[in-house]
Amino acid sequence: MTTEYVSELRKLIYGAQNIVITCHHNPDGDAIGSSLALARYISKLGKEVSVIIPDAYPDFLQWLPGTQEIIRFNKHQEKAEMMLKISDIIFCLDYNTVERTGEMMSKAISSSGAQKIMIDHHLSPDINTAWTWSAPEMCSTSQMVFHVIEALEKDKEDGLWQTFDYVDTECCIDKQIATCVYCGMMTDTGAFTYNSADPEVYNVIARLLSYGINKDKIYRNVFWTFSVNRMRLWGHILQKFVVSDDGHSAYFTLSRAELRKFNFVKGDAEGLVNMPLQIRGMKLSISLREDTEKDNLIWVSLRSVDDFPCNKMSEQFFNGGGHLNAAGGRLFCSLEEAEKVVRHAIAEFKY
Ligand code: 5GP
Ligand code: MN
Repeated sequence: MTTEYVSELRKLIYGAQNIVITCHHNPDGDAIGSSLALARYISKLGKEVSVIIPDAYPDFLQWLPGTQEIIRFNKHQEKAEMMLKISDIIFCLDYNTVERTGEMMSKAISSSGAQKIMIDHHLSPDINTAWTWSAPEMCSTSQMVFHVIEALEKDKEDGLWQTFDYVDTECCIDKQIATCVYCGMMTDTGAFTYNSADPEVYNVIARLLSYGINKDKIYRNVFWTFSVNRMRLWGHILQKFVVSDDGHSAYFTLSRAELRKFNFVKGDAEGLVNMPLQIRGMKLSISLREDTEKDNLIWVSLRSVDDFPCNKMSEQFFNGGGHLNAAGGRLFCSLEEAEKVVRHAIAEFKY
């Protein structure tokens, strides 16, 4: 991201009246953290900005500053469609293809005349944009957003926003922005246990701390929020997951009946797929979750350690993709059939 390229972005933002920030469906801490951080920053520049997300975010992100302002596409579709339509800029955060925003929202984004600006750390960026920063080597989109914000602030120091009277000339980065960024970085790295070996991650954290964030509290707000039902669901899965003969792979299924039994709410299975990886010698863990509404739709999550390529396995067997150690996909069949696909994938996959 060169200085000139940041200046291009500054000009785009300056020229826009209405700015909408979007992220992928099933938004996670990074999607929401990066969106809220950027929204707060842009609004401090004096611009109209809204955050539109495809569907609900998990409860454990509710405390993040700015969530009250979020507009859910699947809840307020007409309003969201109108806002996307009349917007001058649509930020595409934490996704590489428009399809990742879901069927209806991706249509609204694609048909909007707005200029698209993409900031994302997934592989294979494929959105027709006016400005793109794609950096798969980054731990999170939130960190990327922070770099962008810092660069735009530098533009201010250099006097490049000078002619724009509405721009707040003070430093616009504050504790709330830093909190959202830290939350996104923390959630996308499993609290800095993976995807976080770049020393720059910790330089960024040092700067975020200087804005007064409470990192211990952020950790507890996100990770120590189990309901009794959720804890019991985890106990149930830990009892029943299946381990391959060689002890290197594990998988489990989560049926609709089980979801009901444990009063499943969105987010209850978040992180569960990582648990089998705590077993010595385990390389791969897969979860198969039945959709709560649609029949013959199974959500697949894959997690791995070391050089086991989850994304390749997901592309080959589960209609999905993702990162080396964390990928997702979907199967259009019953849970029993999905289980067979998983057994087959584990037996056949060569890497
Ligand atoms: P999760 O298991 O949390 O749904 O997904 C794990 C990771 O894989 C996330 O970083 C997510 O962005 C990515 N991912 C999930 N589904 C897909 C997919 O269908 N295609 C691609 N390219 N990435 C996915
Ligand atoms: Mn991310």
